[in-house]
Amino acid sequence: MTHGMDFHGKTALVTGGSRGIGAAIARTLAARGASVAITYSSSRGSAEAVVRDIETAGGTAFAIEADLADARSAASGAKSAVETLGARLHILVNNAGVALHGPLGTLSDDEFERNLDVNVRGLWHTTSAIVDLLADEGRIVNIGSFFSERVPFPGSSAYGMSKHAVTGMTRGWARDLAPRGITVNSVEPGPIATETNPEEGPRADRIKAMVPLGRFGKPEEVADLVAFLASPAASYITGSQILIDGGLLA
Ligand code: NDP
Repeated sequence: MTHGMDFHGKTALVTGGSRGIGAAIARTLAARGASVAITYSSSRGSAEAVVRDIETAGGTAFAIEADLADARSAASGAKSAVETLGARLHILVNNAGVALHGPLGTLSDDEFERNLDVNVRGLWHTTSAIVDLLADEGRIVNIGSFFSERVPFPGSSAYGMSKHAVTGMTRGWARDLAPRGITVNSVEPGPIATETNPEEGPRADRIKAMVPLGRFGKPEEVADLVAFLASPAASYITGSQILIDGGLLA
């Protein structure tokens, strides 16, 4: 471990840390010394298991329920997480997301709204509630998607729209927060093996055939990139979108 990736004395909030990519990010930051708060909406048992794993490994973590689809819940969950962590938040990872797909004319209005509520409004309400509690030189990492860049499959206009919006917020917040030395970047995963996107089955085989590296990514590979962006080593990177997609969009 290089000195630049040592997070002892730092606090981190990872939204949607109960499963998948968010759980891997929480484990990685905690393993490098950060005190970590994770949020979840419904998977209390999984969130508590992630906390237990981190504590067993000698780290510090706790879980808080916060429904990002609800503005008040998103804001109050984020605020109480930061209060419990201490006065200042060093690292915010906006990871929680949903992926509701369906072609135009098929995706329901409710599904359209759900993509917006969690992936767009959830980020906004979480971050605006605690922006004043972020430490100077702090870090925000937003989890976008390769759908933030392109919409390479049919049936993904609403999800793609929500992930393109992550880019807009990332760029805007980078400018807003630069005077405080806070960097804001987005990480854009390609297909990553999680419950939401299993790496086995006929759909997975079609996806793998499109990926030059020929496989799904692992949540831990995304977590390592997030850790780099959260570290002092990435101090001159802000407003950027970094793809981690096995070459899918190359
Ligand atoms: P998972 O479905 O495995 O986990 C999603 C996480 O988000 C869970 O912790 C879940 O909490 C939380 N969450 C979902 N809805 C809400 C809500 N309303 N309020 C609060 N938390 C919520 O997803 P992934 O790990 O696969 O994805 C994580 C991020 O990465 C998402 O933003 C996704 O769009 C993005 N991404 C994923 C890719 C992939 O291939 N896996 C590809 C590109 C981007 P709970 O457990 O309580 O439901």
